Amino acid sequence: MLAAAFVVIAAAAITWWAAGYHGSGALAVYLAVAFLITTVVLIVALVFLWSFRRNGLLGCDTGRITLSSLDLIQDGVYRRQLDSRVTFANEGLLRMFVCDDVEQFATLSDKAVDSLRYSELETLIATRGEYRNEQVEYRRPDGSQFVGITSERLVRSSRGKPLYYEGAITDISRCIDAERKIEFLSHYDSLTGLANRAIFDERFQAAAASAERYGHQLALVVLNFDRFKGVNELYGRQVGDRVLVEVARRLNQTVRAEDSIARLGADEFGVLLTRITDDSDAHKVIDVIHQRLADDYVVGKIRIKIRTSVGVAFYPRDGADLGTLSKNADTAMNQVKHSTQAGYVTYSEQLGETTQRRLELEKALRQALAKNEFRVALQPRVSLKNGRVTAVEALLRWSRPHWGSISPLEFIPVAERSGMIVPLGEKVLSLALAEWKGWSNYLPNPPRIGVNVSARQLHELDFPASVKAALDAANVPGNMLELELTESMVIEKNAGLERSLSELREAGIILAFDDFGIGYSNLGNLRRFGIDVIKIDQSFIRDIPSDPNDMSIVRGIISIARDFGIELVAEGVETEEQLGILKRMQCDQVQGFLLARPLSGSDCLEFLLDWEKSGPRAPFYWSDA
Ligand code: C2E
Ligand code: CA
Ligand code: CA
Repeated sequence: MLAAAFVVIAAAAITWWAAGYHGSGALAVYLAVAFLITTVVLIVALVFLWSFRRNGLLGCDTGRITLSSLDLIQDGVYRRQLDSRVTFANEGLLRMFVCDDVEQFATLSDKAVDSLRYSELETLIATRGEYRNEQVEYRRPDGSQFVGITSERLVRSSRGKPLYYEGAITDISRCIDAERKIEFLSHYDSLTGLANRAIFDERFQAAAASAERYGHQLALVVLNFDRFKGVNELYGRQVGDRVLVEVARRLNQTVRAEDSIARLGADEFGVLLTRITDDSDAHKVIDVIHQRLADDYVVGKIRIKIRTSVGVAFYPRDGADLGTLSKNADTAMNQVKHSTQAGYVTYSEQLGETTQRRLELEKALRQALAKNEFRVALQPRVSLKNGRVTAVEALLRWSRPHWGSISPLEFIPVAERSGMIVPLGEKVLSLALAEWKGWSNYLPNPPRIGVNVSARQLHELDFPASVKAALDAANVPGNMLELELTESMVIEKNAGLERSLSELREAGIILAFDDFGIGYSNLGNLRRFGIDVIKIDQSFIRDIPSDPNDMSIVRGIISIARDFGIELVAEGVETEEQLGILKRMQCDQVQGFLLARPLSGSDCLEFLLDWEKSGPRAPFYWSDA
C-alpha cells in the first residue's frame, strides 16, 4: 500500500514538473490530477484482483486451491512438519479417524499406528525420502481399527531444502471385508454356514494325522435325503432351504465340537467323527443322528417328513484319503437309498464289489444291446386237464464273450435301475414273437408265447402302443401273446396304468400275474385288471408236501382261481411228488424242470412238434391221477 502511494505521488510530481517545465502551469495541474486519478483507479483494480486471487475466485493460486479442494475426496491427505507436527488434514482424513479437527488428529500422531510399524515407516522415509502403498493398520481414538494403504513423501524446496512431509491414506477395510467374505464363501456354505468340501478335506487331513498318532479311527458319515427335490418342487426353494438349515442345526447339536460337519452337495451332508476306537462308537452317534433327522421338519404351517439314507466308511480301513472314503460311504449310502428300509449301512469290501459289478454290468449292457448278445430261452407249460402245451415262457439270456452267461436275476435289476430295461424289453418281445412265428409254420395251433414285463416298462406311456406295433410287425395275433406282470406293479392306484392294461386287453393280449402269493394277493386286483392267468410263485411249490403252510396256501390259491375262472399255473415243478400233489389239488397247469428246462429255440420247436405228435403224455395229465 505504502509503495503504491509512493508510486502515485512520485508519478503526479513528475507530471506536474514536466508540465511546469514546458511553461504551462494550469495544464500541468490538470495533467497531474488526471494522471493521479488514473493511477489510483489502476491500483484499486489491482488490489481487487489480488484480493480475488487470494480468495481463490480466479483459481490461480495452486497451493491454497489444492488444499481446500482436498476436502472433496474420500481419501485422507495430510501434511506434517519435519518435527512430525501435523499442520494439515483434509476432511476425508478426519472422517477416517473420527476426529473433529486437525488439532485433535495431531494429538494422535504415532499412537494411531503400532510402534514397530511406525518405526519401519519412519526408516523408509528417512532413507528413501518416500514410501508408497504401504498397508498399515490404524487405530482410532475410540479404539476401533481400520486398514489403510498409505503413501508419504518428503517435500523439498527448489533448492533441495527439506520443507515438510505430505501423505495420503486410503481406507481399504471394506475391500478387506469383501475379500474375507469371498474367502468365507469359498470355504463355507452360505446357507447353512457349514464347511464345504475344501475345508472338510483340510479338517480330514488334520484329524487323520491325529488318528494316526493316537491309533484311533475316523468315521465318515454321508447323509442324503430321499426325494429332496420333491420338497423344493412341492413347497418352493425357500421351504427347502429352511429344512436344510434345520438339518445343519440338528447335526451341530448332535456331534461333538471336535467332529466336523460339511455340506457336500445340494442335499448331501458329511459328518467326520473323530476319536473312534471301535465301530460301535460311531454306530451310537449315527443312531442318534438318524433319529434326530427323522423328526418332522416344521416350516410355518408345513410339516415335512424326510427319509434320510446314511452310509458310513471308516478311516483307515475303508480308505486313506477323503476321496476314497467318500466314494465308499456313498456306496453304502446308495445301498440304503435303493432298499425299502430306512437306516444306515456300513461300507464293506463286498459292498464295493457289488457296486463295482453293477457299474460294469450297466456299461456292458449298453454294448450288449448293440452287439446282439441277447437271446431267449423257452420254457413250455402244460395243462393237466388235457395235456396240451398252453404257453411257452420266453426267458431272457445274456451271454457275453469272456464273461459267460449272466443270470437275469443279476442283470434285470441293473437294467431296470438304469432304464435300459425299456429297449431291452422291446428286444425280448421281438425275439419272442419271432419264435412264435416260427412255430406257427409247423403247428396248426401253436401255444401262446409268454413275455415278462418289468414295472418300468409298464409305466412307459407308450407301452401298449409299442407292444401292438411289435405284434403288427411280427404279424402275430394279440391273443397269442401273454404278458407276465407282478401284482406289485399295479398296486399303486394309477389311472394311466389302468388305461394301459385295458388297452392291452382290448388288443386281445392275455395278462398274467407272475410270482403270485408272495405279494399282496389282493383278489380285487384280479378283477380290476382283468387278469387271465395267475402263476403261483415257485417258493410255494418248492416245499410241498413238507410244509403244511405252503400246502394250504397253494390249495387256497387254486380254489380262488377256480372261483374266478382264471387259469392257474404252478411254477417250478421239479418232482413227480410235487406234480402228484398238484394234480390232486386239481391244479390247472404246470411249468418247471420236470416238464422241461428253458430250451433253445430249435430245442423248443422240436419239443413242441414231438408233444403234438405223441399227444398228452403221463404224468402230465389229470386222467392218470
Ligand atoms: P420268472 O419270471 O419267475 O421266471 C422263472 C424262473 O424260474 C426262470 O429263471 C426259470 O429258469 C426258473 N425255473 C423254471 N422252472 C424251474 C424249476 O423247476 N426249478 C427252479 N428252481 N427254477 C425254475 P430265470 O430264467 O433265471 O429268470 C429269473 C427271473 O428273471 C424271471 O423269473 C424273471 O423275473 C426275470 N426275467 C427273465 N427274463 C426276463 C425278461 O425278459 N424280462 C423281464 N423283465 N424279466 C425277466
Ligand atoms: Ca415269469
Ligand atoms: Ca415267476
